[in-house]
Amino acid sequence: MNISYQPELLFVDGRFHQHYALEVSSDGTIVSVGPIAQSRTEASIHKLPGRALLPGMIDIHSHSFQRALRGKAESRRRSGPDFWSWRNIMYRCALALTPEEIYDVARMAFLEMALAGITTVGEFHYLHRTPTGSPYDDPNLLAKQVIRAADSVGIRIVLLRCAYVRSGFELSPDPGQIRFLELDAEKFLRDADTLRNEIAAMPATVTFGLAPHSVRAVPREYLRTISSWAHSHALPLHMHVAEQPAEIDACIAEYTLTPFHLLDQLGLLTPDFTAIHAIHLQPGEIERMALGKITVGACPTTERNLGDGILCADELIDAGVSIALGTDSHTQTDALENARELESNLRLRHLQRAVLDGRQGEPLPALLFDFATRSGARSLHVDTGTLEPGKPADFFTIDLSDCAIAGSLPEELLTNIVFSMSPGAIRDVAVAGKLIVNHSQHPQQVEIIEAFRCVQQRLGAEL
Ligand SMILES: [Zn+2]
Repeated sequence: MNISYQPELLFVDGRFHQHYALEVSSDGTIVSVGPIAQSRTEASIHKLPGRALLPGMIDIHSHSFQRALRGKAESRRRSGPDFWSWRNIMYRCALALTPEEIYDVARMAFLEMALAGITTVGEFHYLHRTPTGSPYDDPNLLAKQVIRAADSVGIRIVLLRCAYVRSGFELSPDPGQIRFLELDAEKFLRDADTLRNEIAAMPATVTFGLAPHSVRAVPREYLRTISSWAHSHALPLHMHVAEQPAEIDACIAEYTLTPFHLLDQLGLLTPDFTAIHAIHLQPGEIERMALGKITVGACPTTERNLGDGILCADELIDAGVSIALGTDSHTQTDALENARELESNLRLRHLQRAVLDGRQGEPLPALLFDFATRSGARSLHVDTGTLEPGKPADFFTIDLSDCAIAGSLPEELLTNIVFSMSPGAIRDVAVAGKLIVNHSQHPQQVEIIEAFRCVQQRLGAEL
């Protein structure tokens, strides 16, 4: 039987409505969204008094294993002064985890995401090998551990299988990267295709994409080979680009091209392409990104943590480039904090307020919430991010009496959600119609946290 969710407020078409129902079929598809009186089919009624219901948020960029690193890399003694030295402790974390621990850590990361109203994760997965660099019998073992973790939590996942070939232009191999490496493009594609086919037989909440790690880690011919394969299968293609100034210098030294000019030359700049970070942009690059209709995957909570820099979201939006959001290093799991940080950074840079307001013709909170929902769906090729008939019922509810948003007038509510609410206000979360969080609790929460605690105990404070 269909279920008719009847919250106090329902977010559709950019605003909150009273006396609306979201009707969901038994297979988890949205049947109708509209005034309660217009619901024609017989459905069991699930009233949600004191709740507002919104489309689930989409986190396009996660490295779930890095959840184990939280708390271990906030001092210079442990992780040095910058992004490049931070990578060393991150590599030690990657080398330390067993396959079962990768599952336990991913479950913790995805549990935290679910409790924060995130219903889809794009997992940029680059752990492929054993800690000694030898292959597992199944080259997709670790990818499947992460998928298994997402399935266990109930979150939708797009597994973006990552290619990682080298330390960088004219750099000697880094032993810290030994679990990431796939030196041969043809072998990489065979393994990727195997995983793609296996995922095709999995539930619809698991899909597949490709992720050449970066211009630094994947040389030009390899990149050309795997991106043309991705295009032939119409896959989402994600890549770290222009996170740090040194990457730009290395790219120019190797190819006499800036990163986005190189990607343009290779034909990568299409609507299927998402450039993660894209912070240190060079003259002429934004125009090329806009022409290609690419998405930029901003990860402000990680970018501020790593000292990466500030995204010029204002210039990108004005040029028509789509922006989506990611958690990345899991230093903080809060999609709305990522959204508001885009704007906050620009206020500090320009000494102005409401910098992004009105761009693309949208009020500021609606624009930022779109980045956390619709833009993410576009980037990951998932049919979610809005509540419309025929789409999967991925949504979350919030407690309207939560202190951060209490007293909001309906027309202020989205502003207060985007600028002031924490994940603690989130009560129910559904993926494909299945409630995976009920009254702020996940049914496996205690077990997931305990397993993660054991991993952290084994790793200890030092890596
Ligand atoms: Zn990343």
